[in-house]
Amino acid sequence: MKTGEKVLIIDRRGKRYLVTVSDKEFHTDLGVIKLNELLEKDYGDTVTSHKGEEFRILKPDINDIIAKMRRGPQIVHPKDAGIIIAYAGISPGDTVIEAGAGSGALTLFLANAVGPTGRVISYEVREDHAEIARKNVELAGFSNRVMIKLGNIYEGIEEEHADHIVLDLPQPENVLPHAVGVLRPGGYFVAYTPCANQVHRFFQAFQEYKKEFYKPRIIEVLVREQEVKKECMRPKTTMLAHTGYITFLRKL
Ligand code: SAH
Repeated sequence: MKTGEKVLIIDRRGKRYLVTVSDKEFHTDLGVIKLNELLEKDYGDTVTSHKGEEFRILKPDINDIIAKMRRGPQIVHPKDAGIIIAYAGISPGDTVIEAGAGSGALTLFLANAVGPTGRVISYEVREDHAEIARKNVELAGFSNRVMIKLGNIYEGIEEEHADHIVLDLPQPENVLPHAVGVLRPGGYFVAYTPCANQVHRFFQAFQEYKKEFYKPRIIEVLVREQEVKKECMRPKTTMLAHTGYITFLRKL
Protein backbone atom coordinates (compact mmCIF):
# COMPACT_ATOMS: atom_id res chain seq x y z
CA MET A 1 0.00 0.00 0.00
CA LYS A 2 1.30 3.47 -0.92
CA THR A 3 0.65 6.94 0.53
CA GLY A 4 -2.31 8.54 -1.28
CA GLU A 5 -3.85 5.18 -2.23
CA LYS A 6 -7.61 4.79 -1.76
CA VAL A 7 -8.49 1.78 0.37
CA LEU A 8 -11.79 0.26 1.46
CA ILE A 9 -12.10 -0.83 5.08
CA ILE A 10 -15.09 -2.79 6.36
CA ASP A 11 -16.15 -3.10 10.01
CA ARG A 12 -17.73 -6.14 11.68
CA ARG A 13 -21.23 -4.81 10.90
CA GLY A 14 -20.46 -4.58 7.18
CA LYS A 15 -20.18 -0.80 7.16
CA ARG A 16 -17.79 0.36 4.45
CA TYR A 17 -15.40 3.32 4.59
CA LEU A 18 -13.25 4.70 1.79
CA VAL A 19 -10.01 6.02 3.28
CA THR A 20 -6.74 7.38 1.94
CA VAL A 21 -3.40 6.02 3.13
CA SER A 22 -1.75 8.97 4.94
CA ASP A 23 -0.35 10.20 8.28
CA LYS A 24 -3.86 11.06 9.49
CA GLU A 25 -6.23 9.33 11.86
CA PHE A 26 -9.66 8.05 10.85
CA HIS A 27 -12.41 8.24 13.46
CA THR A 28 -15.29 5.76 13.59
CA ASP A 29 -17.73 4.83 16.34
CA LEU A 30 -15.72 1.61 16.67
CA GLY A 31 -12.53 3.52 17.42
CA VAL A 32 -9.70 5.43 15.78
CA ILE A 33 -7.55 3.95 13.02
CA LYS A 34 -4.05 5.22 12.25
CA LEU A 35 -4.04 5.35 8.47
CA ASN A 36 -0.26 5.01 8.19
CA GLU A 37 -0.62 1.47 9.58
CA LEU A 38 -2.09 0.61 6.17
CA LEU A 39 1.39 1.09 4.63
CA GLU A 40 2.48 -2.33 5.92
CA LYS A 41 -0.77 -4.11 4.97
CA ASP A 42 -2.04 -6.07 1.98
CA TYR A 43 -5.57 -6.42 0.67
CA GLY A 44 -7.38 -9.07 2.71
CA ASP A 45 -5.47 -8.13 5.91
CA THR A 46 -7.10 -6.39 8.86
CA VAL A 47 -6.27 -3.15 10.65
CA THR A 48 -7.23 -2.67 14.32
CA SER A 49 -8.70 0.46 15.92
CA HIS A 50 -7.62 1.77 19.34
CA LYS A 51 -10.72 0.00 20.75
CA GLY A 52 -9.44 -3.34 19.44
CA GLU A 53 -12.02 -3.55 16.63
CA GLU A 54 -10.82 -5.19 13.43
CA PHE A 55 -11.51 -3.74 9.99
CA ARG A 56 -10.96 -5.79 6.84
CA ILE A 57 -8.94 -4.09 4.08
CA LEU A 58 -10.04 -4.38 0.44
CA LYS A 59 -9.18 -2.72 -2.84
CA PRO A 60 -12.15 -0.50 -3.70
CA ASP A 61 -13.93 -1.34 -6.93
CA ILE A 62 -16.00 0.94 -9.12
CA ASN A 63 -19.17 0.32 -7.07
CA ASP A 64 -17.42 1.24 -3.81
CA ILE A 65 -16.19 4.49 -5.37
CA ILE A 66 -19.67 5.33 -6.70
CA ALA A 67 -21.30 4.49 -3.35
CA LYS A 68 -18.93 6.85 -1.52
CA MET A 69 -18.54 9.68 -4.02
CA ARG A 70 -20.25 13.07 -3.85
CA ARG A 71 -23.51 13.28 -5.80
CA GLY A 72 -25.11 16.13 -7.67
CA PRO A 73 -27.86 14.98 -10.05
CA GLN A 74 -29.44 11.53 -9.83
CA ILE A 75 -27.01 8.85 -10.98
CA VAL A 76 -27.59 6.02 -13.44
CA HIS A 77 -28.25 2.77 -11.60
CA PRO A 78 -25.73 -0.09 -12.05
CA LYS A 79 -28.43 -2.29 -13.62
CA ASP A 80 -28.76 0.27 -16.41
CA ALA A 81 -25.04 1.04 -16.72
CA GLY A 82 -24.31 -2.68 -16.98
CA ILE A 83 -26.76 -3.29 -19.77
CA ILE A 84 -25.62 -0.19 -21.67
CA ILE A 85 -22.07 -1.53 -21.66
CA ALA A 86 -23.14 -5.09 -22.54
CA TYR A 87 -25.66 -4.33 -25.30
CA ALA A 88 -23.49 -1.67 -26.94
CA GLY A 89 -20.46 -3.96 -26.70
CA ILE A 90 -18.37 -1.19 -25.13
CA SER A 91 -14.86 -2.59 -25.00
CA PRO A 92 -11.30 -1.84 -23.87
CA GLY A 93 -9.72 0.79 -26.12
CA ASP A 94 -13.04 2.33 -27.26
CA THR A 95 -13.66 6.05 -27.43
CA VAL A 96 -17.04 6.95 -25.93
CA ILE A 97 -18.66 10.36 -26.09
CA GLU A 98 -21.05 10.91 -23.21
CA ALA A 99 -23.47 13.65 -22.07
CA GLY A 100 -24.35 14.93 -19.56
CA ALA A 101 -21.70 13.92 -17.11
CA GLY A 102 -23.94 14.79 -14.13
CA SER A 103 -22.41 13.24 -11.02
CA GLY A 104 -20.16 11.11 -13.20
CA ALA A 105 -21.46 7.68 -12.16
CA LEU A 106 -22.13 6.47 -15.71
CA THR A 107 -18.86 8.14 -16.73
CA LEU A 108 -17.01 5.94 -14.23
CA PHE A 109 -18.73 2.75 -15.41
CA LEU A 110 -17.86 3.66 -19.01
CA ALA A 111 -14.26 4.53 -18.10
CA ASN A 112 -13.96 1.21 -16.29
CA ALA A 113 -15.18 -0.62 -19.41
CA VAL A 114 -12.91 1.15 -21.93
CA GLY A 115 -9.87 0.57 -19.72
CA PRO A 116 -6.57 2.46 -19.67
CA THR A 117 -6.27 2.51 -23.48
CA GLY A 118 -9.80 3.88 -24.00
CA ARG A 119 -11.23 7.38 -23.70
CA VAL A 120 -14.45 8.86 -22.34
CA ILE A 121 -15.21 12.42 -23.35
CA SER A 122 -18.17 13.64 -21.34
CA TYR A 123 -20.00 16.89 -22.09
CA GLU A 124 -21.68 18.71 -19.21
CA VAL A 125 -23.50 21.99 -19.62
CA ARG A 126 -23.51 22.98 -15.92
CA GLU A 127 -20.26 24.13 -14.39
CA ASP A 128 -21.23 22.88 -10.90
CA HIS A 129 -22.06 19.38 -12.21
CA ALA A 130 -18.86 19.31 -14.29
CA GLU A 131 -16.89 20.09 -11.14
CA ILE A 132 -18.53 17.25 -9.18
CA ALA A 133 -17.96 14.83 -12.06
CA ARG A 134 -14.29 15.87 -12.40
CA LYS A 135 -13.68 15.28 -8.67
CA ASN A 136 -15.33 11.85 -8.88
CA VAL A 137 -13.23 10.91 -11.92
CA GLU A 138 -10.15 11.88 -9.94
CA LEU A 139 -11.32 9.87 -6.91
CA ALA A 140 -11.64 6.79 -9.13
CA GLY A 141 -8.14 7.37 -10.56
CA PHE A 142 -9.49 7.75 -14.11
CA SER A 143 -8.26 11.29 -14.88
CA ASN A 144 -6.01 10.12 -17.71
CA ARG A 145 -8.78 8.34 -19.61
CA VAL A 146 -11.70 10.73 -18.98
CA MET A 147 -12.23 14.32 -20.06
CA ILE A 148 -15.16 16.23 -18.57
CA LYS A 149 -15.91 18.96 -21.06
CA LEU A 150 -17.97 22.04 -20.21
CA GLY A 151 -20.38 22.42 -23.10
CA ASN A 152 -23.83 21.91 -24.56
CA ILE A 153 -23.84 18.78 -26.71
CA TYR A 154 -27.06 19.91 -28.43
CA GLU A 155 -24.92 22.54 -30.17
CA GLY A 156 -22.51 20.02 -31.65
CA ILE A 157 -19.80 17.43 -31.06
CA GLU A 158 -16.24 18.69 -31.45
CA GLU A 159 -14.63 15.28 -31.77
CA GLU A 160 -14.46 13.72 -35.24
CA HIS A 161 -14.79 10.05 -34.35
CA ALA A 162 -16.41 7.98 -31.63
CA ASP A 163 -17.04 4.30 -31.19
CA HIS A 164 -20.18 5.03 -29.16
CA ILE A 165 -22.29 7.93 -27.93
CA VAL A 166 -24.08 7.52 -24.58
CA LEU A 167 -26.61 10.10 -23.43
CA ASP A 168 -28.42 10.79 -20.18
CA LEU A 169 -30.09 14.14 -20.83
CA PRO A 170 -33.63 15.36 -21.53
CA GLN A 171 -33.62 15.57 -25.36
CA PRO A 172 -31.36 12.98 -26.96
CA GLU A 173 -32.99 13.66 -30.36
CA ASN A 174 -31.10 16.97 -30.41
CA VAL A 175 -27.85 14.99 -30.58
CA LEU A 176 -28.89 12.72 -33.49
CA PRO A 177 -27.89 15.18 -36.26
CA HIS A 178 -24.38 15.52 -34.75
CA ALA A 179 -24.02 11.82 -34.03
CA VAL A 180 -24.39 10.54 -37.60
CA GLY A 181 -21.14 12.15 -38.77
CA VAL A 182 -19.14 11.11 -35.72
CA LEU A 183 -20.15 7.51 -34.97
CA ARG A 184 -18.21 4.73 -36.62
CA PRO A 185 -20.24 2.11 -38.52
CA GLY A 186 -21.17 -0.57 -36.00
CA GLY A 187 -20.95 1.84 -33.08
CA TYR A 188 -23.93 2.58 -30.83
CA PHE A 189 -26.02 5.62 -30.02
CA VAL A 190 -27.51 4.98 -26.56
CA ALA A 191 -30.10 7.22 -24.92
CA TYR A 192 -31.25 6.82 -21.33
CA THR A 193 -34.51 8.65 -20.61
CA PRO A 194 -36.81 8.31 -17.58
CA CYS A 195 -40.11 9.09 -19.33
CA ALA A 196 -42.12 7.35 -22.03
CA ASN A 197 -42.96 10.64 -23.74
CA GLN A 198 -39.22 11.30 -24.14
CA VAL A 199 -38.86 7.98 -25.95
CA HIS A 200 -41.82 8.83 -28.14
CA ARG A 201 -40.46 12.26 -29.02
CA PHE A 202 -37.07 10.71 -29.76
CA PHE A 203 -38.68 8.23 -32.17
CA GLN A 204 -40.50 10.93 -34.05
CA ALA A 205 -37.18 12.74 -34.63
CA PHE A 206 -35.45 9.44 -35.41
CA GLN A 207 -37.64 8.84 -38.51
CA GLU A 208 -35.48 11.31 -40.40
CA TYR A 209 -32.31 9.34 -39.58
CA LYS A 210 -33.56 5.77 -39.70
CA LYS A 211 -31.61 4.87 -42.86
CA GLU A 212 -28.42 5.55 -40.89
CA PHE A 213 -29.12 2.98 -38.20
CA TYR A 214 -29.90 -0.71 -37.74
CA LYS A 215 -33.33 -1.38 -36.19
CA PRO A 216 -33.69 0.25 -32.77
CA ARG A 217 -33.99 -1.59 -29.51
CA ILE A 218 -35.72 -0.05 -26.49
CA ILE A 219 -35.58 -1.74 -23.12
CA GLU A 220 -36.30 -1.29 -19.48
CA VAL A 221 -34.38 -3.32 -16.90
CA LEU A 222 -36.09 -4.83 -13.86
CA VAL A 223 -33.95 -6.38 -11.13
CA ARG A 224 -35.68 -8.42 -8.49
CA GLU A 225 -33.51 -9.09 -5.46
CA GLN A 226 -34.09 -12.25 -3.45
CA GLU A 227 -33.95 -12.75 0.26
CA VAL A 228 -32.77 -16.03 1.67
CA LYS A 229 -33.88 -17.07 5.13
CA LYS A 230 -33.58 -20.42 6.87
CA GLU A 231 -36.93 -21.79 5.71
CA CYS A 232 -37.76 -19.47 2.86
CA MET A 233 -36.22 -17.92 -0.16
CA ARG A 234 -38.40 -15.35 -1.90
CA PRO A 235 -38.20 -12.01 -3.69
CA LYS A 236 -37.83 -8.98 -1.43
CA THR A 237 -41.16 -7.26 -0.83
CA THR A 238 -40.11 -3.98 -2.39
CA MET A 239 -38.17 -3.33 -5.55
CA LEU A 240 -36.87 -0.46 -7.61
CA ALA A 241 -39.75 -0.36 -10.07
CA HIS A 242 -38.57 2.18 -12.61
CA THR A 243 -35.45 4.15 -13.44
CA GLY A 244 -35.42 4.78 -17.18
CA TYR A 245 -35.91 3.48 -20.71
CA ILE A 246 -32.78 2.74 -22.68
CA THR A 247 -32.78 3.13 -26.46
CA PHE A 248 -30.03 1.54 -28.54
CA LEU A 249 -29.36 2.49 -32.15
CA ARG A 250 -26.53 0.86 -34.08
CA LYS A 251 -24.88 2.99 -36.77
CA LEU A 252 -24.77 1.44 -40.24
N1 SAH B 1 -25.57 9.92 -15.94
C1 SAH B 1 -25.17 10.84 -14.89
C2 SAH B 1 -26.30 11.77 -14.49
C3 SAH B 1 -26.69 12.71 -15.59
S1 SAH B 1 -27.91 13.90 -15.07
C4 SAH B 1 -24.66 10.03 -13.70
O1 SAH B 1 -24.78 8.80 -13.70
O2 SAH B 1 -24.12 10.64 -12.76
C5 SAH B 1 -28.10 14.81 -16.53
C6 SAH B 1 -26.99 15.84 -16.74
O3 SAH B 1 -27.08 16.28 -18.09
C7 SAH B 1 -27.15 17.08 -15.87
O4 SAH B 1 -25.96 17.29 -15.14
C8 SAH B 1 -27.37 18.21 -16.86
O5 SAH B 1 -26.78 19.43 -16.47
C9 SAH B 1 -26.70 17.65 -18.12
N2 SAH B 1 -27.19 18.18 -19.40
C10 SAH B 1 -28.48 18.46 -19.75
N3 SAH B 1 -28.53 18.90 -21.01
C11 SAH B 1 -27.25 18.90 -21.48
C12 SAH B 1 -26.66 19.27 -22.73
N4 SAH B 1 -27.40 19.73 -23.72
N5 SAH B 1 -25.32 19.14 -22.89
C13 SAH B 1 -24.55 18.68 -21.86
N6 SAH B 1 -25.07 18.33 -20.65
C14 SAH B 1 -26.38 18.43 -20.46
